[in-house]
Amino acid sequence: MKQKILLHACCAVCAAGVLDQLKNDDLAVTLFWYNPNIFPKVEHDRRLNELLNFCDSQNVKILVGDYDWSEEHAYWLSLVDGLENEPERGKRCEVCYRMRLEAVATVAAQINDHHKNEYSFFGTTLSVSTHKDAELINKIGKKIDASYSHTKGNSLKYFIADFKKFEGAKKAAKISKELNLYRQNYCGCEFSNIKDKK
Ligand code: SF4
Repeated sequence: MKQKILLHACCAVCAAGVLDQLKNDDLAVTLFWYNPNIFPKVEHDRRLNELLNFCDSQNVKILVGDYDWSEEHAYWLSLVDGLENEPERGKRCEVCYRMRLEAVATVAAQINDHHKNEYSFFGTTLSVSTHKDAELINKIGKKIDASYSHTKGNSLKYFIADFKKFEGAKKAAKISKELNLYRQNYCGCEFSNIKDKK
């Protein structure tokens, strides 16, 4: 039986690219949406809807985080308070990566509590972007998985990856064009300033 991974996805473009990379691995992937960092709400909803449509068309399983965008974005803002002027890949992004990785790990662990070790791994698509610091993302993920395996009796492990490697970012862009997916021109929060398309 395939091992299962709950994989945080930030958008349809990244999800499509990463799923393509994982298609030959012996893994059953369920995507997970939790991105309250995305601003404004209309953009958050647009990216979510695009991802849901993609999952529907490709027969991919997805869980959508149960949160109210306004409340959760306000919480996100409180976490990055004072870091508004940080460059991308800086301290604000570190907080943002951690918040989303903790969310996917928590949900996977909760599911494992009820369905014994349903998920072997949790992870994220974030590293497929050339604008994301895979080393830092992996460092945060490994720290979270250490806390799960040592303190919560859960065998959940973080899936270490740098999906941008081996032209992963280029391939994600190519697939997204072929599938005519919505390609945003900024990372997500109101402080991000990436203007080149994913
Ligand atoms: S730039 Fe992107 S990763 Fe960094 S804080 Fe904003 S939304 Fe999060």
